[in-house]
Amino acid sequence: MARLKEVGAGKDKSVFHQLSEHDHEKVVFCHDKDTGLKAIIAIHNTVLGPALGGVRMWAYASEAEALADVLRLSRGMTYKAAVSGLNLGGGKAVIIGDAKQGKDEALLRRFGRFVKNLNGSYIAAEDVGTTPRDMEYIRMETEHVCGLPESMGGSGDPSPVTAYGTYMGMKAAAKKAFGSDSLAGKRIAVQGVGHVGGYLVELLSKESAEIYIADIYEDRLREVAKKHKAQVASMEDIYGLEVDIYAPCGLGGTINAATIDRLKCRIIAGCANNQLREEEVQGPALAEKGIIYAPDFLMSAGGLINVSSELGGYNRESAYAKAERIYGITLDVFELAEKEGLSTQQAAVKMAENRIKRIGKVRATF
Ligand code: NAD
Repeated sequence: MARLKEVGAGKDKSVFHQLSEHDHEKVVFCHDKDTGLKAIIAIHNTVLGPALGGVRMWAYASEAEALADVLRLSRGMTYKAAVSGLNLGGGKAVIIGDAKQGKDEALLRRFGRFVKNLNGSYIAAEDVGTTPRDMEYIRMETEHVCGLPESMGGSGDPSPVTAYGTYMGMKAAAKKAFGSDSLAGKRIAVQGVGHVGGYLVELLSKESAEIYIADIYEDRLREVAKKHKAQVASMEDIYGLEVDIYAPCGLGGTINAATIDRLKCRIIAGCANNQLREEEVQGPALAEKGIIYAPDFLMSAGGLINVSSELGGYNRESAYAKAERIYGITLDVFELAEKEGLSTQQAAVKMAENRIKRIGKVRATF
């Protein structure tokens, strides 16, 4: 079975070898001397629909690293869209360079021309190092872009919808663990109270959960604690709290060899990407410890759901309604995991693969 994450992928392998490893459809290398553009667009799979994925701008240490990243990320998008029931494929783009210094209108519009040439098989969106303003520049050259500002009819900040999807997944996990999806009185540790974490705490507070929060930024921590009557924990203590639910909402990799034995929760459900440092190790280890792990790429799918809602004319209500479905999908993932003796992460990947296979057959004839 395919895995979502691989360490050090691709460094010593030919480009075609890397494409064939996980069945990528297409990779486009974009170069423009005048603007200094160096970008790679990877289309992993378009069986379900056009490949939608963010444009990441990052000062990669090498081209090999940029390629490995775009291949890994585009594949992740395929699974995220497929498991969420969206009619989208998986793609991603990386622009090699420093987002703080190396970005301007001409570079982004030149990149937009490359997206245009893909005739809609890739749809660009915002990611690390790019902003809604950057999407506006790309939009000047191609219609195949979303994540535009609300003032331009776009979907705006995805964080509230992402948080709502995480909340729904968390409730499904509670249903599985405690027999009821009510979070009232449940002890919940939210690690990272930035954009998504902040909205998540608001939802949890409305449901009268007992909330503990940690963050690197003291000011933000105090603000959220005061606003939603949450209790503050230190960056280290957050792992070992005796809680019902641990919600990783900061950076990835927080569930690893050093932290896993400290966790005293029944459920892990948060929005952070790539929460398990080594998926194949911590996935089964959590199951063994009796911790219900709600797969990260499903928990954070609200962001993709929100941005993709732009394609048919953005409507916030319909984005929320779609994000609500994460509840039922999460329960289905748990059921499949139990039935087939898989970790929940493996089950979510399998569900995504099954959908691609089945719908691919539906579409095989004209
Ligand atoms: P953000 O930068 O606004 O917030 C992250 C917060 O986590 C920051 O305040 C940071 O200080 C804190 N943090 C980081 N590491 C921490 C740690 N070890 N302990 C405590 N706090 C820590 O980011 P965001 O937009 O809220 O996204 C959070 C996560 O969710 C990221 O992993 C992101 O990739 C993922 N995600 C976000 C969206 C979205 O809609 N914004 C969508 C999908 C996935």
